[in-house]
Amino acid sequence: MSLAASADRPVTVVGAGPVGLVTAWSLADAGLPVRVLEADTVNRTDWRASTFHAATMELLAGIDGGLVAEEMLERGLRVPRYHYRDRRTGLVAAFDLGLLADETRFPFRLQLNQQRLVEILLRRLGELGVPRHFGSPVAGLAQDDAGATLTTEDGTEHRAALVVGADGAGSAVRKLLGAAFEGVTYPQRFLIISVAEDLRAEVGDVHADLAEVSYISDPEEFVFVLRTPESWRVLFPIPPQEDSAEALAPAAMQRRLRGFADIGRDYGILDHQIYAVHQRVADRFHEGRVVLAGDAAHINSPMGGMGLNSGIHDAVDLSRRLVRAAGADGDVAAELAAYDAVRRGVALDYVRADTHRNTQMMAERDPAVRAQNQAALRATAGDPDAARVWLRRASLLTAVAEQGIGRPLDVAS
Ligand SMILES: Cc1cc2nc3c(=O)[nH]c(=O)nc-3n(C[C@H](O)[C@H](O)[C@H](O)COP(=O)(O)OP(=O)(O)OC[C@H]3O[C@@H](n4cnc5c(N)ncnc54)[C@H](O)[C@@H]3O)c2cc1C
Repeated sequence: MSLAASADRPVTVVGAGPVGLVTAWSLADAGLPVRVLEADTVNRTDWRASTFHAATMELLAGIDGGLVAEEMLERGLRVPRYHYRDRRTGLVAAFDLGLLADETRFPFRLQLNQQRLVEILLRRLGELGVPRHFGSPVAGLAQDDAGATLTTEDGTEHRAALVVGADGAGSAVRKLLGAAFEGVTYPQRFLIISVAEDLRAEVGDVHADLAEVSYISDPEEFVFVLRTPESWRVLFPIPPQEDSAEALAPAAMQRRLRGFADIGRDYGILDHQIYAVHQRVADRFHEGRVVLAGDAAHINSPMGGMGLNSGIHDAVDLSRRLVRAAGADGDVAAELAAYDAVRRGVALDYVRADTHRNTQMMAERDPAVRAQNQAALRATAGDPDAARVWLRRASLLTAVAEQGIGRPLDVAS
């Protein structure tokens, strides 16, 4: 059966986060009728993910004449080099994405607050005439063979040829489907603090040569540092016994920052957030005419910057399938089954596996295992062929090469 979307039964995306908006934008770019329902009354501006990997930039550059990718490149910070470091001894291994210059037009991590992408996409969707309903929290869902009906909290019904639940970690759509969100919540939370200082200019001692993205392991308190166009951001794990209010007290945040790098005065704190960290994957990514994408389908540790990126990959994979499914010979059920198998596989075998390993490595306590990890990282970074393999995987190019993005049904995987 074909998708048969129409103006009064459009594909309906629930959630105007980056994943929902990339889905809506790529469908609109391909000429499919689509609308967006968003619970909030205004676009959020809180700071969250800020890394776009090479594979993601490749996908975005392939949509809408590359317009959005171009603006992201203008506004973002290109970071070609990143470090694994030891909090006490300094540099362990330096990786240079320039080694992938023959394989991608984007041999760097683009650092850009995800909300910049949301702003750009909302503007572009307006230009493309896509209806965006803010202040429309979805609370009900019913489906039949030909589509689904969503009900918002005020009782308004929206008929859809297909529903994309891109409504984030607490997804109402996932709950309405009754899908389980299997996995674990880490005992520690993460505190991320944005500072006014130019860390590389200010930090001395063993971290004087800090890269703009640095994973700094430590058995007591690891640190993750990354630079965005607006500020440097410093992430600390918060142990289970410390409550959030205690960790967020200004003196406690200064103590943590100065414990990592004492600049001789207090830091200028621009922003701070504390959040729980999970590894969870929904037990299914689709049922009938309802599909889950992004955080609604999988949530991960931010170590490696893969959660948002893989959510955008879900969006592009799904859009390509829906465009085919809308054709006269389209088979929407087969396309959605393939989406479920491929994207759930990527969430489990690449994103969950790698972000969990990265998080464990940062916090490893056993000195022998730490030494082994560091030796392995040094050996990988020191051998250009091994480093390329590492960098391809870390930037999700391997997942895309192996699993495809919206690969046609008749192409063997
Ligand atoms: C504090 C914080 C820091 C983070 N830092 C990082 C990081 O450093 N690196 C990283 O990779 N990832 C990070 N993440 C995760 C990253 O932000 C997410 O992976 C990303 O936002 C997922 O995008 P999404 O569009 O799937 O979901 P979201 O961005 O959550 O968007 C979902 C949208 O759906 C809307 N919505 C929710 N319920 C409904 C409803 N019932 N009806 C209609 N709309 C609804 C929401 O209002 C929201 O706009 C962080 C997350 C948080 C919370």
